[in-house]
Amino acid sequence: MVVGAGLAGVRSVEALRARGFAGTITLIGEERHRPYDRPPLSKAVLLGGTDSTVVDSDLGALEVSFRPGAAAKGLRPGVVETTEGELPYDGLVIATGARPVRLLGDGPQHVLRTIDDALGLRALFAPGVKVAVVGAGWIGAEVTTAARRAGCEVTVVEAADVPLAAALGPVGAWTVPWYEQAGVDLRLGTAVASVDHGGLTLAGGSAVEADVVVTGVGVRPAVEWLAGSGIGLDDGVVTDEHLRTSLPGVVAVGDCAAWWSRRYGRRLRVEHWDNALNAPEVAVASLMGEEAVYDPVPYFWSEQFGHMVQYAGRHDGGRMVMRGDPGADPKWGACWVDDRDRLVAVLSVDRPRDLVQGRRLIEGGRPLDVERLADPAVALRDC
Ligand code: FAD
Repeated sequence: MVVGAGLAGVRSVEALRARGFAGTITLIGEERHRPYDRPPLSKAVLLGGTDSTVVDSDLGALEVSFRPGAAAKGLRPGVVETTEGELPYDGLVIATGARPVRLLGDGPQHVLRTIDDALGLRALFAPGVKVAVVGAGWIGAEVTTAARRAGCEVTVVEAADVPLAAALGPVGAWTVPWYEQAGVDLRLGTAVASVDHGGLTLAGGSAVEADVVVTGVGVRPAVEWLAGSGIGLDDGVVTDEHLRTSLPGVVAVGDCAAWWSRRYGRRLRVEHWDNALNAPEVAVASLMGEEAVYDPVPYFWSEQFGHMVQYAGRHDGGRMVMRGDPGADPKWGACWVDDRDRLVAVLSVDRPRDLVQGRRLIEGGRPLDVERLADPAVALRDC
């Protein structure tokens, strides 16, 4: 059985069939939609380019019993309790993803996680509409891009001193001019106290007037249904490097899974499309008794203010080397190296080759020539 009919859920079904599993597969998902991709929700859907992002997967050919609108409520060994009754399982994939964090206050507050959220927001974006976006992270930046394109007046309120602070640290400061050029009122270092009717109340007591408030301050793994099940939980479902949970015959994948990474020597939980796409292959192999190991270099991309921003790796404490001058050249990037000059993370802005080559260098782990790395004219693979 697979619980959660997002990308990781449907990929798990595909992986089971691809590995020759011929038994019954039930896929339950609390949304009333066929599995769909989320990255386009804050891009093509909000921008009006498409209304559907359904995953290209033939559920009929996969012979899966798909139950949209059914939610898991509890788990005990061998049985998932759902809103449609108890369903027994021999093997279970947990793929319930994550849910947006909401702020205090009783004013109307939009989040962006589902296709319904995206279509609902798009309908509100129109010239002159005052939109307040809380959070200048990935989602906040993409929502802001779409709202400005629709002609809205946008104020972005961010508690940190730079946009994208959690993911990029100080380098995020180089995206501030994008907000300015787009005509956005960006308020950094500003905390929101509550969302109220008519807009936001800030921590200092002042207000930001808004017709529409969009909160983009992060997500939490959707694992509340597992409370009391005995399964290990710690910022998501705890798994080993094979994506096995603490319960026999149960694996976890995607945004809800916190897996042990051999590469980083710590547990990781990432909210990246690439992870939802690729982890199921390993989880299903583990479920079927193989010793597959999941150990990727995390990868993420974002499209904001006309720029393709891509990031691979992790850079806690690494030394940063800029590639290009963001003040002078619209295409730039940054690399982080460890104390042995090995690449640990790469950020690229409209330099997709840097991302592809950088990801391989991170995987390979050879020391680089840092002087060459600082020269954006030198291909990363030649550093
Ligand atoms: P989800 O997609 O969240 O799917 C989980 C499903 O399980 C949901 O349908 C949920 O309703 C269901 N569920 C939850 N609880 C239960 C329950 N108890 N019972 C049954 N069903 C349940 N990543 C990138 O790398 N690049 C991007 O540009 C990017 N853009 C994004 C833009 C948006 C707007 C969003 C929301 C995400 C974006 N992401 C991006 C992240 C990426 O989409 C996620 O990492 C990915 O969707 C995770 O897939 P998942 O299957 O693990 O979880």
